[in-house]
Amino acid sequence: MRDYLKFYIDGAWVDPVKANPLDVINPATEAVAGRISLGGTADVDKAVAAAKRAFPSFSQTSRADRLELLNNVMAEYQKRYAEIAAAITEEMGAPGWLAMQAQAAIGMGHLQTGIAVLKDYSFEELRGTTMLAKEPIGVCAFITPWNWPINQIACKVVPALAVGCTMVLKPSEIAPFSAQLWTEVMHAAGVPAGVFNLVNGDGPTVGAALSSHPDVDMVSFTGSTRAGIEVARNAAPTVKRVAQELGGKSPNIILDDANLETAVGSGVVSMMMNSGQSCNAPTRMLVPAGKMEAAKAIAKAAAETVTVGSPDGNAKIGPVVSEVQWNKIQALIQKGIDEGATLVSGGPGKPEGLETGYYVKPTVFADVTNDMTIAREEIFGPVLAMMPYKSEEEAIAIGNDTVYGLAAYVQGEPEHARKVARQMRAGQVILNYAQGDMMAPFGGYKQSGNGREWGDAAFAEFLETKAIIGYAPAAAAE
Ligand code: NAD
Repeated sequence: MRDYLKFYIDGAWVDPVKANPLDVINPATEAVAGRISLGGTADVDKAVAAAKRAFPSFSQTSRADRLELLNNVMAEYQKRYAEIAAAITEEMGAPGWLAMQAQAAIGMGHLQTGIAVLKDYSFEELRGTTMLAKEPIGVCAFITPWNWPINQIACKVVPALAVGCTMVLKPSEIAPFSAQLWTEVMHAAGVPAGVFNLVNGDGPTVGAALSSHPDVDMVSFTGSTRAGIEVARNAAPTVKRVAQELGGKSPNIILDDANLETAVGSGVVSMMMNSGQSCNAPTRMLVPAGKMEAAKAIAKAAAETVTVGSPDGNAKIGPVVSEVQWNKIQALIQKGIDEGATLVSGGPGKPEGLETGYYVKPTVFADVTNDMTIAREEIFGPVLAMMPYKSEEEAIAIGNDTVYGLAAYVQGEPEHARKVARQMRAGQVILNYAQGDMMAPFGGYKQSGNGREWGDAAFAEFLETKAIIGYAPAAAAE
């Protein structure tokens, strides 16, 4: 049992102003795995005040100071790495191997890229006689989700620290364990008091208090589009900067010249990783109509390789995060059946032998049309929609016909895939399942959000630009 009832404010672990414990459920066992406290507005006020007090001195630290600090954070993170991976497994059900090799690894990746970017980042630029100075924006509030919990914390905290901001983190109340360990890492690394603060709580209380707080200069939110809209609305009266990393319904266009076996097979498997709980998962597979029958057979065989089971074993996927998500996914699978899509693999109910835990059958639907609910709504489970297309123009049109625009995937001959990539309305286009690039900006078009995280793009998110006119002596009068 993890009892994480305190908040981290001004460099110390403190009791909440008012006790309000919440049980955290392990999705693989449905048992209580620990407790956190749900905070209130008074806790937020204390944390924001600490971050505000710390800002004047932290914002003036040198690049060398902050590089040293980030290196310390990385060393402490490395020491706790396996523990952090285990906490992620316990809070959101990622298989142990995925937690070690991907979930916790991305946290390390953000530390490495943050350090690399900070070494050479240009905070000043003289243009004629005007100095453009990039300065830290101030006190930041971070509101994060449960699906890649450490990734989403690290991709905000690291660049914010790197540029000299101070901050308050409110992690997901569904998966708060890894955030606690992250905070312990920050403390052990010697992050100065008030620079980083942690307040647990729910969205409508702590999330809303942070989004609307007059002393918060910027709020960076990752989560659902629904909550992202609330954050922006609450932030509007104080005109704070709002970064939103929201949902997705990413198309995966299998071009006519793609290797069908690889394109479909890898598409199914990669969509289902992390139990389909990735905002950029390739959830709508677009297949040339004439190849749909062959593609169905490949997809069925591929879905059968996606083993489901306890996160402690070798299964490819574990449970989904919660009972609420399990019920939502089941309702959407039923909707797919009711609206006439062809069920190729999986379906409603729990996989055999996995009655305890929020396990979902890897499910593939084919003959899906883009007006069906399963093509439009983010399911956030291992459920793939295969859709036929008649021409490349139609494939691109269907791919772009979504309110989201986080990612798009294109499979085919490289030259051809590059041409199609240019026509996709998405923040990231991944060709032929290329390996991820930690330096590449990550963020969405349309209702997938505003702003870009990861790599050097993330630094810009946390900086203001000050133009100092007449900074340099004017050139000698002619
Ligand atoms: P969620 O929106 O329910 O919760 C995310 C966070 O927002 C949590 O910390 C929650 O407490 C908080 N929150 C909820 N309501 C709020 C409110 N009114 N004001 C302020 N904060 C509030 O999302 P979730 O279920 O935790 O995560 C899944 C969603 O996140 C999916 O839609 C997924 O696509 C999205 N996501 C997006 C990205 C991305 O980078 N674009 C990455 C991961 C997840």
